[in-house]
Amino acid sequence: MNENPELSVVVPVFNEEGNVSELYARVTAVLQKTGVAHEIIFVDDGSADASLERMGELSARDPRVKVISFSRNFGHMQALCAGLDHAAGKAVITMDADLQHPPDLIPALMAKWREGYEVVGTIREEATETGLFKSATSRFFYWLMSRISGTKLPRGAADFRLLDRSVVQTLTGMRERARFLRGLIGWIGYRQTFLPYRADPRFAGQTKYSLSRMLRFALDGITSFSSFPLKLATYVGACIALVSFFYAAYAIYIRLFTDRAITGWASVLIAVLFVGGVQLIFLGVIGEYLSRVYEEAKQRPLYIVRRKIGF
Ligand code: UDP
Ligand code: MG
Repeated sequence: MNENPELSVVVPVFNEEGNVSELYARVTAVLQKTGVAHEIIFVDDGSADASLERMGELSARDPRVKVISFSRNFGHMQALCAGLDHAAGKAVITMDADLQHPPDLIPALMAKWREGYEVVGTIREEATETGLFKSATSRFFYWLMSRISGTKLPRGAADFRLLDRSVVQTLTGMRERARFLRGLIGWIGYRQTFLPYRADPRFAGQTKYSLSRMLRFALDGITSFSSFPLKLATYVGACIALVSFFYAAYAIYIRLFTDRAITGWASVLIAVLFVGGVQLIFLGVIGEYLSRVYEEAKQRPLYIVRRKIGF
């Protein structure tokens, strides 16, 4: 076997027993045709089904298949990170196990890389099959991110991309815990280009991203690339102070120059509740940042490998 393959394909796997064999077959078929020396690194993110057995069988038959198995579920981004840490190729392609990322696009990614691009990303074209809700929320998220973060983040950017060795080296040197890879890739620079692709429906199994997980993912993205939410408290506080200043002037005017009196505990109560609510919200915002600082400060490893096969 070739010592240093030209291409490494990194695949995070979390309960994908119905997908790994098909993915392996399709990726090898494509790469065999192009004649590229390659390895496939499956990162088992603590699967509870037969995924690991399937991957072990593949590795026993084909020495180009390698498996890293986590001690528990650490998450998609951590799995990608482990794959990059272990990849030996001059170029590394990351793709999902569920065949939503078409292996047929690999030669096109390689061609762009040979042209000299160090990051060849992909952009999902609007798939009819992703629900209205998912596409609307994702659109809102990319809009918000580009407004407040200052890093370029093309809408629909997928975790299906080719990275040059130099980029992999840069990324593996960044050990932050909140690994919002799309943002990091935008942040590091290099020569980047994007190819559009049509996302296929999932081959087997169900999505591993529940709504709450997506929300956490989005929060990670925002907090690791923008401190705007923290500053928002200043602006909102200033606005409220300004309004209350004018209201105070009005109250004094009524008291001094008219016979009317300012009435109503309702307005007082509303003002108190409103300000109380705003304060709690911003305490929460501070808490989001603080908890992430705490997580980083602990310096725990990003993932724990229980077993490696084929290395
Ligand atoms: N995945 C993972 N760990 C997780 C969740 C997901 O390794 O905790 C993998 C999953 O097996 C798949 C990829 O990440 O290969 C993308 O997940 P999924 O297809 O469920 O996400 P979606 O395409 O629905 O956004
Ligand atoms: Mg998927």
